[in-house]
Amino acid sequence: MSDRGLLARDVIHAWGRILAGYRPNLSIEITKECPLRCPGCYAYGDDHLGGDVTLRGLADFRGDELVSRFMALIDRHRPLHVSIVGGEPLVRYRELGVILPRLAGRGIHTQLVTSAVRPIPLEWASLRRLQLVVSIDGLPPEHDARRAPATYERIVKHIAGHQITVHCTVTRQQARKEGYLEEFLRTWQENPHTRLIWVSLYTPQKGEISAERLTSADRAQVIADLRRLRPMFSKLQMLDGMLNVYAQPPQSPQDCVFAQTTECLSSDFERRITPCQFGGNPDCSNCGCIASAGLEAIGRHRLTGGIQVGRIFYASLQVGRTVARLRPVTAARGAQGELEERSPA
Ligand code: SF4
Ligand code: SF4
Repeated sequence: MSDRGLLARDVIHAWGRILAGYRPNLSIEITKECPLRCPGCYAYGDDHLGGDVTLRGLADFRGDELVSRFMALIDRHRPLHVSIVGGEPLVRYRELGVILPRLAGRGIHTQLVTSAVRPIPLEWASLRRLQLVVSIDGLPPEHDARRAPATYERIVKHIAGHQITVHCTVTRQQARKEGYLEEFLRTWQENPHTRLIWVSLYTPQKGEISAERLTSADRAQVIADLRRLRPMFSKLQMLDGMLNVYAQPPQSPQDCVFAQTTECLSSDFERRITPCQFGGNPDCSNCGCIASAGLEAIGRHRLTGGIQVGRIFYASLQVGRTVARLRPVTAARGAQGELEERSPA
């Protein structure tokens, strides 16, 4: 089937899930462990899980228990798309060696977000619908300072044999250096193991004061640079619509297609991360999340006749919420009806 056919089928499928009251995307922090200590990491922030517990204080699983609990989650949520994040997912590479082929076998699109701190198993390269996203935050001096022990030297070794998506989160330190983004893009465009390059902008929490946070002028400059550089780098996947969202992000989680369609769970597989994968109290007006921008761009797209996809989406969401509210009642009535049919009068 062509990509276009696949895409149309996926959108209709996702729409069906929304109308049925499910969220089509599931994001799972598969472990609480990570050998890195990146400055500005939201996963280990004090408020990421709401303030009463941090990721390091939560339970997580390993071995057969992790595999069976993970697959039970998939059975319960029946997502079309799964993001596996952490912590560092590769600390559970043995369990992932079982989980990933099962997800592929079920036709689920899976995204694994990793630092590539250890080798990525070669057998994963042939799994269908698996996207390996490697976080690379700048050129070696800046990246290595932020993300050791997942240094450039290790990444380059560990991605051999794969086709990865390079994911760079631009912080203020990078935005301030002229020509930096272009050099970064050239480095990864030339790497034969790069399939795509994604660029996010650092998303702060509300009221955050940090060295990473971009000013409005920084954001405008990075967006302008990306528009200029896009024609020069074929692997850079930043559509106009996505850059428009960076320039004008959703104003709140209620207005964010990504937040409304993605269920985010932490490492005990019970704790929900709200309002989106960042947790805490994210500053939507400074959002630079590429996943959010991608979905939002679809939502802002106008169909023939001028109606925005997002208007249909939010109407469908209301239908789905009603269906979800009715589901336990309908199920209970169904069960009761079945019982009554079977019971002697
Ligand atoms: S690799 Fe990811 S989870 Fe680990 S510290 Fe860095 S940003 Fe946080
Ligand atoms: S993804 Fe961005 S816009 Fe959406 S809720 Fe999170 S911070 Fe806000």
